[in-house]
Amino acid sequence: MTPPSSHTARKRFGQNFLQDPAMIERIVAAIGPRDGEHLVEIGPGLAALTDPVVMALGEQSHLRLLEIDRDLAARLQLRFQHDARIELHVGDALDVDFVAQSLQAKQPLRVFGNLPYNISTPLIFHLLAQSSQSDENNLEHGIIQDMHFMLQREVVDRMAAPPGSKTYGRLSVMTQYYCRVEHLFDVPPECFQPRPKVMSAIVRLEPYQTPPCPAQNTAMLDKVVKAAFAQRRKTLRNTLKGIADDGVLEACAIDPGARAETLDIENFVAIANRLTA
Ligand code: SAM
Repeated sequence: MTPPSSHTARKRFGQNFLQDPAMIERIVAAIGPRDGEHLVEIGPGLAALTDPVVMALGEQSHLRLLEIDRDLAARLQLRFQHDARIELHVGDALDVDFVAQSLQAKQPLRVFGNLPYNISTPLIFHLLAQSSQSDENNLEHGIIQDMHFMLQREVVDRMAAPPGSKTYGRLSVMTQYYCRVEHLFDVPPECFQPRPKVMSAIVRLEPYQTPPCPAQNTAMLDKVVKAAFAQRRKTLRNTLKGIADDGVLEACAIDPGARAETLDIENFVAIANRLTA
């Protein structure tokens, strides 16, 4: 499938269109849409994933498309205007209130997309923060059931990294705090048009209804993690200066001379909870 020549890929919107039918099939099988679900696609573009997902949608399903590029949105509007299960939202996915959408759907959302690489990390932080808000909204169901994203493989590696590894950092701690993370498979540059310079990968994120090790205040957790990894070669005593002193760290059985990359999620939560108490 080659994108129609009438659309020139826009770099500023991170446009690399999937064009390998076998890979598209594999990604859609990994998502596995079922009848009655509420799905959200971020950046449908030329509908490479949208079309097969729509084919798999049942009568009771709902699919919301979030596309920032007005030209592509106009094409999507034309294509899907007669399908009542599909709703198009033209705008920035970073501004979307997923909590409100889940409330409206009365069920958790299934979010997927071949994400624009330039905004993938802020977008994931936006989704993680929102996916954890079911308690605050007294919801019996979660906000997000799962997410399937195409990302740069390096980003997926960082998300899934264990403590002690070179790629372990803020993205690993915060993603693993909120979600079960699964690196499903890699997607080489030749599957896209235009070809990206790097390898991509599909990741599955399943938010926990309640995190295995809950923080009393996730804003405090994020503050501690951000500061701890801001200069990863420095000791916690230095990076957490003004936030947590030696006494706080020692009370959590953490050596102030250690570096952030040696701490696991429980350690970070212990520090944040000590500072919240
Ligand atoms: N899903 C298509 C595919 O797989 O071929 C297109 C993927 S392309 C990598 C990223 C898509 O996200 C583009 O359609 C782009 O216009 C859209 N996009 C970029 N930034 C966006 C944003 N902030 N909000 C919503 N969509 C965005």
